[in-house]
Amino acid sequence: MAVIGAGVAGLAAAVRLAVAGHPVTVFEAGPSFGGKMHQFSLPGGYRFDAGPSLFTLPQLVDDIFRLAHRTPADYFRYERLDPITNYFFADGARLSAWADADRFAAEVQAKLGAPAAAVTRFLARSGRAYDATAGTFLHKSLHKIGTYLSPDVLGALAALPGLGLLGTMHQRHAKAFADPRLVQLFDRYATYNGSDPYQAPATLSMIPHLEHGIGAFYPAGGIHAIAASLHRLAGEFGVTFRFDEPVEEILVAGRHVTGLRTALDIYDFGLVVSNMDVVPTYRRLLPAQPAPERTLAQPRSSSALIFYWGIAREFPELDLHNIFFSADYRQEFRAIFEDKTVADDVTVYVNITAKKTPADAPAGHENWFVMVNVPHDEGQDWEELTRKTRRAVLARLRRALGADLEPLIRAEKTWTPPGIAADTSSFGGALYGSSSNNPLAAFLRHPNFSGRLDGLYFCGGSVHPGGGIPLCLLSAKIVAELIG
Ligand SMILES: Cc1cc2nc3c(=O)[nH]c(=O)nc-3n(C[C@H](O)[C@H](O)[C@H](O)COP(=O)(O)OP(=O)(O)OC[C@H]3O[C@@H](n4cnc5c(N)ncnc54)[C@H](O)[C@@H]3O)c2cc1C
Repeated sequence: MAVIGAGVAGLAAAVRLAVAGHPVTVFEAGPSFGGKMHQFSLPGGYRFDAGPSLFTLPQLVDDIFRLAHRTPADYFRYERLDPITNYFFADGARLSAWADADRFAAEVQAKLGAPAAAVTRFLARSGRAYDATAGTFLHKSLHKIGTYLSPDVLGALAALPGLGLLGTMHQRHAKAFADPRLVQLFDRYATYNGSDPYQAPATLSMIPHLEHGIGAFYPAGGIHAIAASLHRLAGEFGVTFRFDEPVEEILVAGRHVTGLRTALDIYDFGLVVSNMDVVPTYRRLLPAQPAPERTLAQPRSSSALIFYWGIAREFPELDLHNIFFSADYRQEFRAIFEDKTVADDVTVYVNITAKKTPADAPAGHENWFVMVNVPHDEGQDWEELTRKTRRAVLARLRRALGADLEPLIRAEKTWTPPGIAADTSSFGGALYGSSSNNPLAAFLRHPNFSGRLDGLYFCGGSVHPGGGIPLCLLSAKIVAELIG
C-alpha cells in the first residue's frame, strides 16, 4: 500500500500498517520527512523546529513503539515541563503556569490577585469533561455507525449537557473567572487548534487539562525527534521512502483505487492513505472524482507568521514557552477570523529550544521561534503584513523585556501562510485543517476513509479528529484500525 506524505500522521500510519504486516511505500514531495514538523538550521549555529513546539500526550508516540514490541525510550525520550509557560500580560503582570494545578492556582492568586479556588475548580472540571468525551470524539471514527452504538459512547453523549459545556469557550471562561487576564489566558487554548475563543464551543475548554492534568512535554533534541524516531522505526519494518517524489494523481477504476502516478512512474496500489491535506488531495490528485464540497468548504483554521531569529544574548527571564499577550484579545481574533488580516497589537509566542537543548544555539546566544497567529492565506498582501507584524512584535517584546531585539538578531528567516502552503500543501497554509469555530465542526471534518472510493483513506491534521500532533497520531491509529 502507499502513503502520500511523510508528515507525523503519515509516518505513524506507515509504521502501524507495516507492523500489521502490510508492505508500505511512502511518497513524499519534499526532500525529507516531518512535513510541518521539519527542522532546519540558520548560519551561525542556530537549529530550529519549523512548526510545532508544544507537545502533549507523548504516550500516543510510546503506543506506536509498544505496538511494534519496542521499548519507547530506546527511540524517543521526553521530559515533563515545569513551568509549562511564562505569561506576560499587557498591563505588565507576569506569571508562570506550573504543571501542578495547586501551585499554578497559588501563582495566579499571588500574581493576579484572582482566587486560587476558581482555577483549581476550573481545571478539575476541564479534566472531567476530557475524561468523559476524549475516548468518543478523538479515538474513534465519528463516521461509522458502530461508534454510536457502544455503551461508553452513548454515556459520553448523555454526559455532555451536565458538563457546563454549552456556549462558547470565551463565555465559559468569562463565567468561571472575574479577572479578564485569566479569561485571556484560558481563551488562548482555542489557538491550540487554530480556532477563535469567541466562536469555538466551550467543549474546547478541556484543552488546558492536557497540560495541567496530564502534562506538557519536551522531546529530547526537540520536536523533530518525534518524526525522526518514527522514521527510524518505519525503516526497521521495511517501509520504503520515496523522497522528492510528489504524487500527481491517485488512479481509480470504477469505485476502486488502483494506484498512483508521479513524474517518475505509475505504481499499482489497491490501498492508498493520503496524509496530504484533504482539499488538495481532491482538487489536485482526484480531479475527475466528485468531491465532498460541503466538507471541503468548512472554514479553515488560523495560520501563523513565524520569525526565526538567532539572538546574540541570553534572557534568563524566559523559558521554553513564553507568551506576550496583546491588550485586546477580542480585536485580535476579529482581525484574524472576520477581517482576515493581522491586528496592530498582537499576542507574541516565543519558543526557545536552546533553554532545553543548549546545542541549538552558540554559547551565550538563543534560538528564538517567534510566532503570531494570523488568518490563512486568501491572497492578502503578506509582504506588507509581515513588515507590519515584525514591527509590532519588536515593540511588544521591547515593552515586556526592556530590550531592543533588532540589533541582537544575527540570523533570520520568515515563514508565512503562503510559504506554509507551498512547503506542505496545506490548503491556505492553515495550521490545523478546518477550524473548530462551530459546535458541529467535529462532525463536519472529513472522515478517515472515502465514502465513494474503495481503498482510499485519509490521515493528518485536515481530517478527523483534527490538527495538532496528538490528533494527527490518533488519525493514523483510526486509519490503521479501519484497514486492519
Ligand atoms: C508554525 C506551526 C506551529 C504549530 N504548533 C503546533 C504545536 O505547538 N503543537 C501541535 O501539536 N501542533 C502544532 N502545529 C500543527 C502540527 O504541526 C500539525 O497538525 C501536524 O504536524 C500536521 O501533520 P500532518 O501529518 O497532518 O501533515 P503535514 O505535516 O502537513 O505533512 C504532510 C506531508 O505531505 C507531503 N505532501 C503533500 N502533498 C504531497 C504529494 N502530492 N505527494 C507527496 N507528498 C505530499 C508534504 O510535503 C508534507 O511532508 C503547528 C504547525 C505549524 C505550521
